[in-house]
Amino acid sequence: MVKRRVALITGASKGIGRAIAIRLAQSNIDIIINYNNDLKGAEETQKQCSVYGIKSIILQGDMSKEEDVDSVFRESIDQFGKIDILVNNAGITRDGLLISMKEKNFREVIEVNLFSAFYTMKLAARIMAKNRYGRIINISSIVGIRGNPGQANYSASKAGIIGMTKSLAKELASRNIRVNAIAPGFIETDMTNKLNDKVREKLLEEIPVKYFGKAEDIGHLVNFLVSDEASYITGQVISIDGGMNI
Ligand code: NAP
Repeated sequence: MVKRRVALITGASKGIGRAIAIRLAQSNIDIIINYNNDLKGAEETQKQCSVYGIKSIILQGDMSKEEDVDSVFRESIDQFGKIDILVNNAGITRDGLLISMKEKNFREVIEVNLFSAFYTMKLAARIMAKNRYGRIINISSIVGIRGNPGQANYSASKAGIIGMTKSLAKELASRNIRVNAIAPGFIETDMTNKLNDKVREKLLEEIPVKYFGKAEDIGHLVNFLVSDEASYITGQVISIDGGMNI
């Protein structure tokens, strides 16, 4: 019997992370659901993944802390013996103009959005290189490409993810490991629900298809990028934004 692939998705208790977990489960991939605070949300993700008959586990861990990442990886290997797919999705915003931005808010965003990926990719690369197979997907953002007023910290973290993706793609290509980034535009989740109607209307004007994206749209793209059909794609940043970044 062929062993199922195993995917670790960080920040999978809601939003885009949950949609990615469910879409990969639908493709017969075992799922490791990481969350930080929202256990109920992680359990809901697991419930929706289980429908597809795969094995899934829930692992708590603050991915900005190296010791938490270490223990999530240790437990994952204990339970599954391998990690084939890593999706770095955990992310936060702490918006504000740079001129008045507190160092704490700059640091926190960089630690959760960028250091987390450094810690996870370091461990995943070792496991994947040994197995001569791996797929890493990093969730960046359109603002990592274009910048955005009020998001100097967030856009720095998302641009950093793009640089790391490209470097690691080059480092690991010969081991059959592919590393790509996804740059979503405006996707309807808790993260974007905070924005008021005026901001949303203004954003819509910038989106050629004239509607916001759904978390499921990102799930489908991740599912393609981890498939064998996408094995010749590495080091890329794929925009998924209704044309916002044209
Ligand atoms: P969300 O609904 O706010 O969900 C964020 C997820 O990240 C939650 O599951 C949360 O877990 C987890 N998380 C936060 N800090 C964490 C930490 N320290 N350790 C582990 N998990 C942590 O956000 P989303 O919209 O789905 O965003 C997901 C990713 O897409 C983020 O990287 C975001 O920057 C990116 N993105 C989103 C959009 C958009 O329009 N929504 C656009 C571009 C890029 P807990 O709730 O359990 O703490």
